Amino acid sequence: NDEKSLNFIEEIIEEDIKNGKHGGRVLTRFPPEPNGYLHIGHAKSIVLNFGLAQKYNGKTNLRFDDTNPVTEETEYVESIKNDIKWLGFEWAEELYTSDYFDTLYGYAVKLIEKGMAYVDDSTSEEIAAAKGTPTEPGKPTPYRDRDIAENLRLFEEMRSGKYPDGAKVLRAKIDLASPNMHMRDPLLFRIKHAHHHRTGDSWCVYPMYDFAHGQSDSIEQITHSVCTLEFIPHRPLYDWLIDQLEIFPSKQYEFARLNLNYTVMSKRKLLQLVNEQYVEGWDDPRMPTISGLRRRGYTPGSIRNFCERIGVAKRENIIDVGLLEFCIREDLNKTAWRRMAVLDPIKLTIINYPDGKEEMLTGENNPEVEDGEGEREIPFSNALWIEREDFMENPPKKFFRLGPGLMVRLKHAYIVRCEDFVRDTDGHVTEIRCTYLPESKSGEDTSGIKVKGTIHWVSIPHAKTVEVRLYDRLFNVENPAAESDFKATINPESLQIIEKAYVEPDLLNAISGKGYQFIRKGYFTLDTKSTSDRPVFNRTVTLRDTWAK
Ligand code: ATP
Ligand code: MG
Ligand code: MG
Repeated sequence: NDEKSLNFIEEIIEEDIKNGKHGGRVLTRFPPEPNGYLHIGHAKSIVLNFGLAQKYNGKTNLRFDDTNPVTEETEYVESIKNDIKWLGFEWAEELYTSDYFDTLYGYAVKLIEKGMAYVDDSTSEEIAAAKGTPTEPGKPTPYRDRDIAENLRLFEEMRSGKYPDGAKVLRAKIDLASPNMHMRDPLLFRIKHAHHHRTGDSWCVYPMYDFAHGQSDSIEQITHSVCTLEFIPHRPLYDWLIDQLEIFPSKQYEFARLNLNYTVMSKRKLLQLVNEQYVEGWDDPRMPTISGLRRRGYTPGSIRNFCERIGVAKRENIIDVGLLEFCIREDLNKTAWRRMAVLDPIKLTIINYPDGKEEMLTGENNPEVEDGEGEREIPFSNALWIEREDFMENPPKKFFRLGPGLMVRLKHAYIVRCEDFVRDTDGHVTEIRCTYLPESKSGEDTSGIKVKGTIHWVSIPHAKTVEVRLYDRLFNVENPAAESDFKATINPESLQIIEKAYVEPDLLNAISGKGYQFIRKGYFTLDTKSTSDRPVFNRTVTLRDTWAK
């Protein structure tokens, strides 16, 4: 299975190992900002970073990129750790950029001492205006030529809390004419009087992303720092800072972020969906979050498999959500236990089966594996629920289900023939009346009769009532993020609740986290928030619609 060609990052790593760079050591990191729950895009980054380390005998650090005190919370830290573990990965060390605040402050002082950084009193608007445009060089602000001693003093005063938010910033002194806007004296530190989820009130200056990320990589001696394409223009600054500070030379490599159609993936947008209650929470089964997918019934293996299948690209693209669905179907087809559930019931009476008689039939749990993973008992009687759509008064030619005079097999049970049906006063069909062939019992059928269709059913006196939730795409358009108002494209029918579905009794023993195939209806899982007096099943995904239709 190692015949697969290498992706471009693997090629780089193999070359580095061959050249003995860093003694052949591979250390990657996954650096989430704890300002939201992880989504499927993060899963791509996790599978890539942890996967590279696994493949090359290396390690991966989990580093919380917590430099923005305003948006970050401990709840997010916990959910992120939980999701990574659930995906099946173990980090070498749990680290926080905020643990490096002292070191980063020291690095800034070092740059000032080298004449490579200065304190600027300009407003953010003034700084933006003086930066120029990509075709026009920037201009120095009046503070650019402050001497080293003054810069050191002012930076120390920024730290000690002497100035309000926004009064001053620390900037690198690089090149105001650089064609790369990120090199035009980028901001390194800003003042923010805010409580931090870990450092509390001990700091009122915080490093900017560009002065935290690469330096943290370097402090940890990360060998391959993999990020998404937007950071290509940041790379010269990443390298410049490491050079000037003369610290461990981590290297940044960029790949195309995962985009998925019919959803949004920015945490800011996902947070809006949560806060404005378009969804039930971060773990709503319609969300592209790891916790949402888990609650929906996705398995860790299916998500890892999806991330591996899409590969590592150097150019932006959009992946069809159908591929994600394909991966979970493939997984659940092999692992889900088969059960019967009727979502839209109509009564079927077997007129020649004795009233009050019941018998226990059996059905294997999983026909996809050798031993079937055991069987469960399915009670049978003369009163059954079947799906309304499995009966037609005037069926077309190839309708291999029920209609006047038509025969069908009841899964795991007998062949029945529709003799008659009953209507209410409004003309709606309310009951289907059948005879059964006693010698046609599944597994011991001597009737000699072949029928084309098999339908599922649940015995009415034994049926259990559950709630079933059917999900559809959360958005009606392929790329909601491209709309002026992404929330205007929310699919109003993304959730359909069936308050009373009838299921075979064994489904009351459903195991949380396990997949069940409701025969002909799709793959389902017990909702993690459901209670035993009110079980709720979420549909993970529909079946490929091939089954006995
Ligand atoms: P968002 O835009 O959703 O807020 P982010 O990049 O700001 O995402 P981080 O918490 O900083 O979120 O991301 C942690 C890591 O996951 C980063 O290395 C980032 O590059 C990566 N990542 C985030 N989104 C994707 C994606 N869609 N595809 C691949 N990697 C991603
Ligand atoms: Mg980020
Ligand atoms: Mg972000």
